[in-house]
Amino acid sequence: MLASDFANLERDIQMVNDSQADWFHLDVMDGVFVPNISFGMPVIKAMARHTKKPLDVHLMIVEPDRYIQTFADLGADILSVHAEACTHLHRTIQAIKAAGMKAGVALNPHTPVAVLEDIISELDLVCVMSVNPGFGGQKFIENTYEKVRQLTKLIQQHNANVLIEIDGGVTSENAAQLVLAGANVLVAGSFVFSSQSPKETIQGLQELVNG
Ligand code: ZN
Repeated sequence: MLASDFANLERDIQMVNDSQADWFHLDVMDGVFVPNISFGMPVIKAMARHTKKPLDVHLMIVEPDRYIQTFADLGADILSVHAEACTHLHRTIQAIKAAGMKAGVALNPHTPVAVLEDIISELDLVCVMSVNPGFGGQKFIENTYEKVRQLTKLIQQHNANVLIEIDGGVTSENAAQLVLAGANVLVAGSFVFSSQSPKETIQGLQELVNG
C-alpha cells in the first residue's frame, strides 16, 4: 500500500479487495530505521477497517517490540520485524506469536541468510528485501535470486514451514523467476499502482506465477 494514493486510500484499498491480490502489505516506517516515514497508527487503524484480506505488516522500525500488541489489536495477521532492528530476535518472534500473529523476519540486502540459521524453524515468513528499505519504486537488486535459493535450501535443511516473501522492485519481468527460485509471496507496490489498470496488473502477476 506504500505506492497507493494516500489521498484516496479507501478507493485503493477497495481496488485491492476487489482484485486477485491475496494479502495487503503495509510498510511501516519510523524515520529512524529507514530514512522515511510512511503511515502512523491512526491511518493504519483507519485502513484496517476497510481491508478484507489478510493484513501483512512489515515493520521498518527500531524497537519493534514496543508495538507488537498494538498491531495485534489492529488485526494484523502477519507481523514482520527486521533482523537488523532486533537484538533479541528470538524473543521478539515468540512475542509476536504469543500475541496471536504469524511471525516474519525481514532481511536487508546486505544481511546474509545465515543469520536465520538458528531461528528458521520458529518463523512463518522471511521477507527478503530486494531493494534498500525506505522508498517505493526502486530498482530490483539482482543478488536476490541467489539469496532466495540459499533461503530455500536453509528451509529444506530444517524441514521448516516458512514462506519466502520478496519485497521491492517486483515486476512482471522478475516475478516468474523469483517463484522459480523458491519465492512464495511477491509484494508489488509501484508496479501495480503506477500501471494503467492496477487490477489487471495484479491479475497478470497472478497468471505469471500461478500459470
Ligand atoms: Zn514491505
